[in-house]
Amino acid sequence: MQATRRHFILGGTAMALAGCAGGGGGGFGSAPTGPDPAMRPAPNPGYDRWVAAFRDRAAARGISGATLSAAFHDAGYLPGVVERDRNQTETSRSLEDYLGITANPTKVRNGRAALAQRRALLAQIEARYGVPANVVTAIWGMESNYGTRRGDVPVISATSTLAYDGRRGEFFERQLMAALKILQRGDVSPDRLTGSWAGAMGHTQFIPTTFEAYAVDFDGDGRRDIWSDDPTDGLASAAAYLSKSGWRRGEPWGYEVRPPAGGAAAGTTRTLSGWAAAGVTRTDGGRLSGGASARLIRPAGATGPAFLILPNFRVFLRYNNAEKYAIAAGHLSDRIAGAPELSASFPPDEYGLSIEDRRRLQERLTAAGYDAGTPDGVLGKQTEAAIAAYQRANGMAVTGQPSRGLLAHLG
Ligand code: CA
Repeated sequence: MQATRRHFILGGTAMALAGCAGGGGGGFGSAPTGPDPAMRPAPNPGYDRWVAAFRDRAAARGISGATLSAAFHDAGYLPGVVERDRNQTETSRSLEDYLGITANPTKVRNGRAALAQRRALLAQIEARYGVPANVVTAIWGMESNYGTRRGDVPVISATSTLAYDGRRGEFFERQLMAALKILQRGDVSPDRLTGSWAGAMGHTQFIPTTFEAYAVDFDGDGRRDIWSDDPTDGLASAAAYLSKSGWRRGEPWGYEVRPPAGGAAAGTTRTLSGWAAAGVTRTDGGRLSGGASARLIRPAGATGPAFLILPNFRVFLRYNNAEKYAIAAGHLSDRIAGAPELSASFPPDEYGLSIEDRRRLQERLTAAGYDAGTPDGVLGKQTEAAIAAYQRANGMAVTGQPSRGLLAHLG
């Protein structure tokens, strides 16, 4: 299913996380940096030959000469896209860090404001697709930071570059073909067909094949437009995708629970009445409600938060097949609707530091003249550089890594 491959190629969130590691904390990574020279077409005769051959294949699949000419008029080989594809680091951030990036207080505040601003539209979308306003808003936040990061890399250039480059050529040729169909249908003009370097587009960060399968024209103007400043079609398309992926009306995605002492192992599935009989309670005091059965997960181990997850959790996984993504989307949706932060705290990290320790470390580094960025407890590249500079200046081994000793040294 293309939907699950989407995460594989690093869609909006994973990319933003990679960006955040570079930005050193504080929301969704560094600010947009303007036109990147590596994201402008560069001469490449091999690419040109590939495009010539591809155009024949596309014509055989029903793409018109006019569409092809318009699509490739300004398109070209993007060295920056290949560079990104080769250098993407699989971020193995902890769930605590991931939540600190995707569902931090700024994201929650902006999500509540976005929902308030689009309340009437989101109510119409909920009436049609059965997906609550706070859930659609959370997906919007996860994917494009509420529409503020929709991507400005030309999709025809990006997907043709990656199809030509060949590392995952077949996959990107399918994306390129779908992008041409989008242009041929007239949903968007070639100059507005933009997205991430990997072709994730618009408010919803749909790749072209996902767009083809799920995007909707909610405002009825004849075009499915997930790129425009007006998020109407984008938000409805996200809801349509969740709905077609099996979203169950009126059910939560899951909730944080207090498991019984010495109770069930993570991964156990029971009926809700079975969990209730075993002494499991919600941390927010609510009733165990939703699907007929639920699975217990403990993503940070036995001493971190525990959740019961319900069928709608799997729907988030269809959007992006990563457990952390699904937990973050669900938690952000709850927070947007007014819920408090998670009740349980996370165990110390691999350096033996709690989130409070990490915040304190960042604050003290900055106070000592080594800017560690926003003291959010998420240690990114900026904090690493600050630690390294501090270590160098103080005659310590330069590791760039935090430690309790370093925290003590900072006083
Ligand atoms: Ca429309």
